[in-house]
Amino acid sequence: AKKAGKNCIKYYNHNMQKEIEQQIEIEYRLNKAFENDEIKVFYQPQISLDGKITGAEALCRWQHPVDGIISPIKFIPIAESSGQIIKLGDIVLEKVCQHIHNWSKNSKFKSIPISVNISVKQFMLPEFIESVEEKIKKYNIKKGMLKFELTESLFLNDLKKVVDKMHKLKEMGISISLDDFGTGFSSLVYLKSLPLSQLKIDRSFVTDIANDENDKAIVNATVAIADSMKLQTIAEGVETVEQKEFLKDIGCTVYQGYLFSKPLPLEEFESYIENY
Ligand code: C2E
Ligand code: CA
Ligand code: CA
Ligand code: CA
Repeated sequence: AKKAGKNCIKYYNHNMQKEIEQQIEIEYRLNKAFENDEIKVFYQPQISLDGKITGAEALCRWQHPVDGIISPIKFIPIAESSGQIIKLGDIVLEKVCQHIHNWSKNSKFKSIPISVNISVKQFMLPEFIESVEEKIKKYNIKKGMLKFELTESLFLNDLKKVVDKMHKLKEMGISISLDDFGTGFSSLVYLKSLPLSQLKIDRSFVTDIANDENDKAIVNATVAIADSMKLQTIAEGVETVEQKEFLKDIGCTVYQGYLFSKPLPLEEFESYIENY
């Protein structure tokens, strides 16, 4: 038993060291990825009850020349802790604006605003608003075509600064969704005073909605709150017709999930919209 314990500790240390080495390796490779333009933006359509496309979420992917497509779950947390998330976020926003610009002459894309995930570190940068303004001018982004998804953890920062920035974005024609709603720090008191347009119901509440009474109750309450504040709700991770039916009965009428489409690479998303 003693020996096993010893081995256990050794194994644990070895693992930890390996993890740190891996992290440093990924940080290094991520910088290379930025230089080599390996960060791509995929788009996942958002569909309303009546079958219309009401928007799409931009989700980044790392297209590695050898390893293929790497999920953001693998590198976003590392980019968050290394600070590379700021560069990554800038790359994604630049690409999305470029795409919106390219679509602007196409009537099929006219009513499809694109939602971009903005990390806390990126949002809290003093020059964030200015850099968004710059891109909006550079790519002539029309009001209403760009949306931001923010998480509740943002409100742990200087709330006055946060709300001030949100108002500035609103003036620029960028509406804001509160992402992963219910999974983090949330206060209904705050909610009322924020310039939000949408609550995003997290996938963790949608997965079991047909069977789990708690999840059903949470989603029900979320939709009721949103309704009373004149906010739209959108459910994430809708994979089955059954889930969609439950959401519909509760009053959630916009959906995003594999039932409709996975996040698609640029060209596939474009033909999805063209042929919808
Ligand atoms: P998120 O913002 O909650 O995005 C939703 C995630 O759920 C996406 O994972 C999406 O592909 C996945 N999803 C959508 N529908 C379904 C479904 O029906 N079933 C299942 N199982 N999953 C579904 P993804 O693309 O792997 O992104 C993971 C997370 O990485 C995102 O979670 C977001 O927090 C972060 N992320 C992705 N792109 C960016 C980015 O450009 N900037 C920042 N800051 N974060 C990003
Ligand atoms: Ca999101
Ligand atoms: Ca989520
Ligand atoms: Ca549950």
